[in-house]
Amino acid sequence: MKLLIVGGVAGGASAAARARRLSEDAEIILFERGPDVSFANCGLPYHIGNEIADRNKLLVTTPERLHSRFKLDVRTRSSVEAIDRSAHSVRVRDLATGNEYEETYDKLILATGAAPFRPSIPGIDLPGVFTLRNLQDTDHIKSQTDRGVKQVVLLGGGFISLELAENFVRRGVATTIVERGDQILAPFDKEMTTPLVHELARHGVTLLLGQSAEALEKTADGLEVCLNSGQRLPAQLVIFGVGVRPENKLAVDASLEVGPRGGIRVNEYLQTTDPNIYAVGDAVEVRDVVSGEPIQVPLAGPANRQGRIAADNVFGHRATYRGTQGTAILGFFDHTSAITGAAEKSLRRANRPYRKIYVHPLHHAGYYPGADAMTLKLLFDPSNGLLLGAQGVGGRGVDKRIDVLAVAIQAGMTVFDLEEMELAYAPQYGSAKDPINMAGFVAAGLLRGEHPQINVETVTVPPAAEQTFLLDVRTPQEFAEGHIPGAKNIPVDELRGRLDELPCDQQIAAYCQVGQRGYLATRILLQAGFAAANVGGGYKTYQLWQDPFA
Ligand code: FAD
Repeated sequence: MKLLIVGGVAGGASAAARARRLSEDAEIILFERGPDVSFANCGLPYHIGNEIADRNKLLVTTPERLHSRFKLDVRTRSSVEAIDRSAHSVRVRDLATGNEYEETYDKLILATGAAPFRPSIPGIDLPGVFTLRNLQDTDHIKSQTDRGVKQVVLLGGGFISLELAENFVRRGVATTIVERGDQILAPFDKEMTTPLVHELARHGVTLLLGQSAEALEKTADGLEVCLNSGQRLPAQLVIFGVGVRPENKLAVDASLEVGPRGGIRVNEYLQTTDPNIYAVGDAVEVRDVVSGEPIQVPLAGPANRQGRIAADNVFGHRATYRGTQGTAILGFFDHTSAITGAAEKSLRRANRPYRKIYVHPLHHAGYYPGADAMTLKLLFDPSNGLLLGAQGVGGRGVDKRIDVLAVAIQAGMTVFDLEEMELAYAPQYGSAKDPINMAGFVAAGLLRGEHPQINVETVTVPPAAEQTFLLDVRTPQEFAEGHIPGAKNIPVDELRGRLDELPCDQQIAAYCQVGQRGYLATRILLQAGFAAANVGGGYKTYQLWQDPFA
């Protein structure tokens, strides 16, 4: 067996190592256009911020180590230029010499990744304008930062820009993020990004939403980013993080099928439309686990796993890729934002019925010092409680809960399963009723009809707002510190004695801080004959929906 692999980082290097473990006899050649293989893309922003001070730590392995340990023929600075499917060969350009040669294959794996998008606007090629994909980009950005940069403008409000923002703040560089859309972190629902918007402001990052760069101009002090609003932002460093495009040229030129967003089409065995050619990683189109639709999700986990699976199939071990559910996480200083499965907006777009709940638990027992707050949002099927998606924001412990929920979604679990999950508990790690159990109780209670809930974003805007009686059941002090406009305050402990103050002919929406006292109030009101529902997630959820810039 002669196996050629194009691309030597996440997907390609995983495929190569797996291939060797499966066959000592195979001839395996790994082509990589750049000078490095298997480097840690995900660590690049942290090297710029000096969190990962030693550049060598970013080299997970080297061509020499891949050769000595795995007997791989690793050819760096070697660009595969074309595939001849009928001759089973590729044309390779040695970038050091410019020489070209042919290499034949029995099987070929494409792991070419995705390239950062560079919009064709005036000034895009000026010095000081970058994208971030590899160690060379990192070196340029870092050396310029080391020489002294006062201001950086990050275009795009996605994961890479936010990670860079943290690192530039650490370096004392004035940081501005410009995002064309109306929210940062596009995969998330907008209200779940509100805490991060506050965190950005707290760390001095300027965030401009609804704006984009139209041109870049050279000035005496560096650069100026000209926005569509007319605003001009001075900067010495400008980095575009406005999405990536699958590197599909080899595939397209070889008439392999690609999807509408350019991802190489593969089957569950990661075979392209040519059964001798496999493709993995950011370059391919995958199946969304929740919707079943083809999607494009550039993440390291899927790329690594796909590399293994493709190698398995090359050597006759039938392995299937289950699809991608977009489990992703972002750290910004002490704040964590994490997501898995479908977002509410994608369910709405797909016209798929769903219900949702919010809970705001502590990450471990409240009586043990140092608990961090978090918000979890669950999306599930109203007919059977099947989990469709989850998002978590807050401090410590968000990562663990999203990972549990990611497994639950992959296993096809329901909100009723979350009620029953047995999770590790000691006071410094969790609670006897873990946040996952709490989310399950609230969601299952909603579906069983025990716990009628109403969404805060609907009861606070017309026409529902005019027809709903808002009842705040928190203490007068909590009420005084902030409440939903128009609400009446009757603390839950006084509610049974003050029912005569409530209307019998109106829907009552009861709320507290996080939903717990609102739930009790709802039960009291329902049993007293009122039409009542709990405002899901209480005042804290209301705050998520408030404009963070107001
Ligand atoms: P890549 O890792 O991009 O590798 C493709 C390689 O193929 C490239 O090195 C390229 O030079 C080479 N190549 C392309 N065409 C040819 C050719 N014709 N001939 C030879 N070689 C070729 N994901 C996460 O899940 N979590 C994170 O925290 C995270 N952080 C990230 C931070 C940054 C700054 C970046 C850039 C990405 C991050 N990612 C993260 C995304 C993750 O790195 C990618 O999803 C993953 O690397 C994709 O793997 P891949 O093998 O498909 O492509």
